[in-house]
Amino acid sequence: MPTNEKIAIFRCYKCKQEKPISEFHKDPTRLNGLDSRCKKCKSQYEKKRWETHKEKRKNSFKEWYELNKERERAQKRQYAREHPEERRIYRVKLRLKLLQKVSGNNIPQCVNCGCDDIRFLEINHVNGGGSKEKFDVGGQGYFHRSILNGTRKTDDLNVLCKVCNSLDHLKRKYEIVPIEIVWNGKEVVSCQG
Ligand SMILES: [Zn+2]
Ligand SMILES: [Zn+2]
Repeated sequence: MPTNEKIAIFRCYKCKQEKPISEFHKDPTRLNGLDSRCKKCKSQYEKKRWETHKEKRKNSFKEWYELNKERERAQKRQYAREHPEERRIYRVKLRLKLLQKVSGNNIPQCVNCGCDDIRFLEINHVNGGGSKEKFDVGGQGYFHRSILNGTRKTDDLNVLCKVCNSLDHLKRKYEIVPIEIVWNGKEVVSCQG
């Protein structure tokens, strides 16, 4: 066998290099039966194509997801509008659960006056900063959810009635509040201290 046998070479359309035909994939649809790109260029091309495809799929999934999320939200809003009583009960139950969790008590009470009417009870930040935190997490709903699902610890929270909570706020601001709140089991009674 002659060792100086001429090796068939072919010019890659992409990188313009002349390479032996073994560096090209076969392509029966072409006149010379070879791909116009060399194997190296071809694989780069395929890789790029795949990346684009992946990106497109990701984006279209994202679009579909957003659309679906919006639709689901609209359906929920619609359902809530059509079932106000159910919604009210759901909210009361959620509120009770939240207050139970923060107070560590089945019957949540104001730690200051003992009021146990949950309509008046609120969650209080012992060291202040409640408004800031609610703002930071994106609203009261998110704040409450993080307590319920356990991602937000409750060590620095307690339960106060609306009146005591307001007084607490005043006390923090002015350091002294000249009245005392007493819960008599039915209503909040305030008296001069
Ligand atoms: Zn090439
Ligand atoms: Zn109170």
